[in-house]
Amino acid sequence: MELIAKLSLLADAAKYDASCASSAAPKRNSRNREGLGASTGGGICHSYTPDGRCVALLKILLTNFCLYDCQYCINRRSSDVPRARFSVDEVVRLTLDFYQRNYVSGLFLSSGIIRSPDYTMEQLVAVARSLREQHQFRGYIHLKTIPEADPALVAAAGRYADRVSVNIELPRQEGLQRLAPEKSLSTIHSAMGVIHQAGETHRHATPSFSGRKPARLAPAGQSTQMIVGADDSSDAQVLTTAENLYQRFKLRRVYYSAYSPIPGAPGTVPHQPPPLLREHRLYQADHLIRLYGFGAGELLAGTTTLALDLDPKLAWALNHRDQFPVDLNLAPEQLIARVPGIGLRSAQRLVMLRRRRAVCFDDLVRLRCVVRKAQPFIVTRDYRPSRAEPESARLARQLRDPVPEQLGLWG
Ligand code: SF4
Repeated sequence: MELIAKLSLLADAAKYDASCASSAAPKRNSRNREGLGASTGGGICHSYTPDGRCVALLKILLTNFCLYDCQYCINRRSSDVPRARFSVDEVVRLTLDFYQRNYVSGLFLSSGIIRSPDYTMEQLVAVARSLREQHQFRGYIHLKTIPEADPALVAAAGRYADRVSVNIELPRQEGLQRLAPEKSLSTIHSAMGVIHQAGETHRHATPSFSGRKPARLAPAGQSTQMIVGADDSSDAQVLTTAENLYQRFKLRRVYYSAYSPIPGAPGTVPHQPPPLLREHRLYQADHLIRLYGFGAGELLAGTTTLALDLDPKLAWALNHRDQFPVDLNLAPEQLIARVPGIGLRSAQRLVMLRRRRAVCFDDLVRLRCVVRKAQPFIVTRDYRPSRAEPESARLARQLRDPVPEQLGLWG
């Protein structure tokens, strides 16, 4: 098979992995399509670095052959799709060619499992080793690791890659047992533990005489992906699992990918996708857990499902009216950041501002807070919500996000 045909097949097969891309972007089929910006056919995806830069990565599979039969995956053993396989040298050459032409800043490489987990992992590591050692490649490398591979190989992946990820796929062992019987949560946790432990060892390592520590394994940390809607796991189970992974293995990110039904899928997986809004709400809740200090239990108090019509912070505030209104001139910064419509940076700026003078209502407008959402929950020097506060259900109806509507071409 020609290299370009392999590239189009193995780039298309890699698009289901959300763990390096902005999965909130609309899904577009890159096959048989051309046009301005249609770069996904060539395997280029866009990803965001921790400092907010958008970088282009060559995102491909080493192969879409696979020994496993995960029911939710298009590359499973029993799937009737055309198959292809790159050699190690082909991936190295493609990466260097794309990089030298300034098309990409790095490589995201995953693979189906061929021969054995160890053999597959060796091939992935060989690509990264060749790029780093033979070609002095300084670009970004994200390697997907195979959880069942030898821990020494997982660690070797971390030596050459900036980021490694082990996909957990489903939050519960029962789900894996039913849909991906060759996988197990404990093996996935062990692989995550190897990377985490290496990071901890580096953190506590004593610097040498020159003051330098040994190079850190996977300096950009590790991430994972959970498929939402392939099994019957609830939002509570998804978020509790994510929270545990953040705490236990210090993961940088958990990515959520709404299950997308695949042609010829077996009867064990749904034939309808979950609402895309569910994926969006999970990302919002995840953001609140990682950056705002919310617990998964707090966001889901008493329910197992996130509301689709309200963002999780607003839903939490409506369930905790006893904690509001918050006086922006007195409350601690963490509590101000919990007010709907006020983000972390605005909370920080409000606290800085009140050192100089009292915070007024118009300051929220100047700081570009979402005043409509914040208004019922705050007190400022010149504003206090009326005593006859609307009940939470009515407030929810007033504040819920408008249902997006497709505009007509002619107005
Ligand atoms: S191991 Fe990975 S590539 Fe293979 S069937 Fe499962 S999810 Fe798909």
